[in-house]
Amino acid sequence: SATLPTDTGHPARAVSPRTPPGTDAPVSIVWLRNDLRLADNPALRAGVEAAGSSGSTLVVYVLEEAVAPHDHAELHDSAAPRPLGAAARWWLHHSLAALASDLRAVGGELVLRRGTAVEVIPALADEVNASAVFWNRRYTNARNADSTIKKQLTAAGLRAESFHANLLNEPWTVQTGGGTPFRVFTPYWRACLARPEPREPLPGPTSIRAASAPGDALNDWALLPTDPDWSGGLRETWTPGERGAHERLAAFMGDGLAAYHRRDEPAAGGASMLSPHLRFGEISPFTVWEAVRSARRAGLDGQSAHNTATFLSEVGWREFHASILFSLPTLRERNVRPEFDGFPWGEPHPAELAAWREGRTGIPLVDAGMRELWHTGTMHNRVRMVVASFLVKNLLIDWRVGETWFWDTLVDADEASNPGNWQWVAGSGVDAAPYFRVFNPELQATKFDPRGEYVRRWVPEYGTAEYPAALVDLRTTRANALAAYQAMRAAA
Ligand code: FAD
Repeated sequence: SATLPTDTGHPARAVSPRTPPGTDAPVSIVWLRNDLRLADNPALRAGVEAAGSSGSTLVVYVLEEAVAPHDHAELHDSAAPRPLGAAARWWLHHSLAALASDLRAVGGELVLRRGTAVEVIPALADEVNASAVFWNRRYTNARNADSTIKKQLTAAGLRAESFHANLLNEPWTVQTGGGTPFRVFTPYWRACLARPEPREPLPGPTSIRAASAPGDALNDWALLPTDPDWSGGLRETWTPGERGAHERLAAFMGDGLAAYHRRDEPAAGGASMLSPHLRFGEISPFTVWEAVRSARRAGLDGQSAHNTATFLSEVGWREFHASILFSLPTLRERNVRPEFDGFPWGEPHPAELAAWREGRTGIPLVDAGMRELWHTGTMHNRVRMVVASFLVKNLLIDWRVGETWFWDTLVDADEASNPGNWQWVAGSGVDAAPYFRVFNPELQATKFDPRGEYVRRWVPEYGTAEYPAALVDLRTTRANALAAYQAMRAAA
């Protein structure tokens, strides 16, 4: 919002007076990435501890610039995070502004740098004469950069340490009896639940002695849309930042969870809306788990017990997709099931694709979902499945085209969950819905939006002469999709 500070940079080219150069007081660097929070942040805690009472802590966020892979063979080595889409850039701006202000409240400071992490982090460590660098582990392909950095720092005699913070279970800790990653959710989640209970969240630091260094001004990163500024609907819907995340969790624990059995109804508001907060790490899954654990301790009746178990398993899906990306780095580019490489996707018809993106297909539930996405940066989960199925099956457009649109428009766009869910709907992924399960958007609307509230909210002209006729015939296109699938199978 307009009140958020936007300039977190430090204009002076000098090191902060609080850490005079030439002293031996230890400087520790905390490198934050998808963990933009103070509470339950093991790396931040370690940084503050390592600095002790005489040293200081420098907290840095690096806007990592991707080095585009030249060909598919190099995808595995691509060590930069996927460049953020427009909605996620909006979120990042506000989340960093909130983080900077939260850090200032306890004496800290957020330094912004831009570039390739393997260059920026060691150079910064050198510049401030740091003795240690801490970060929380990530599980995307960008972890390759982290290993390189750890080696470099260690070779230079620094302490470099990473922590377990952003998933309840790190991918390599949950494996089948045969020591391979799970490919099916149910046994994966059963194995997770058989492990020791997730730890309790750690408190955030109450005071930080800030080390400083020159940095960029957040505004100079131009993360916000201008000309036009399309972010009004996002502002109305969301409060990025740690406080917003905790408020969302509290609201959900207060009354959302009791309605979670209605989470499939897009008008019911039964879901937590925590996904972008988890995506940017403004709240940790341990904190979410703890909230559920204390609700359970307080005693739950049958319905609520069922709701909490279901909710936790949804949090489990986030982890499942993360573990899939961990073992399949090409999840975004390639079908997990290779027989889908022979699927006869057509060239997307530009007018049909545009109608899907803009919510003008003449299929009310699809249009409502696509407009919700455009306006708010999110879409209800059930409707995401419906619009994805419509694109992939009724319009026979490659799932990667839809995935790319979601990547640009979702505030929770996630490197694992987005392609993982698209491949799930397309039938090409692990534990995927079978291809022949084509969602019928009309039946879905009857079942999950029986009074048409959701459709009316987003498609007010539905039922008037202004509303377009259906772009395609659902029955014919379904039959075509099934025929294309049979042809693929026959050719495989
Ligand atoms: P809740 O129902 O309250 O669930 C709690 C948390 O569990 C969520 O915040 C989320 O972190 C996690 N979660 C729930 N369902 C899933 C799921 N199917 N896969 C992974 N995590 C899940 N979710 C993303 O976070 N990022 C994405 O980029 C993304 N892309 C998707 C694309 C498609 C085609 C589909 C069908 C789903 C996608 N999802 C994605 C999953 C899901 O739609 C959202 O996580 C959910 O709608 C978020 O709302 P919520 O926080 O209220 O969920």
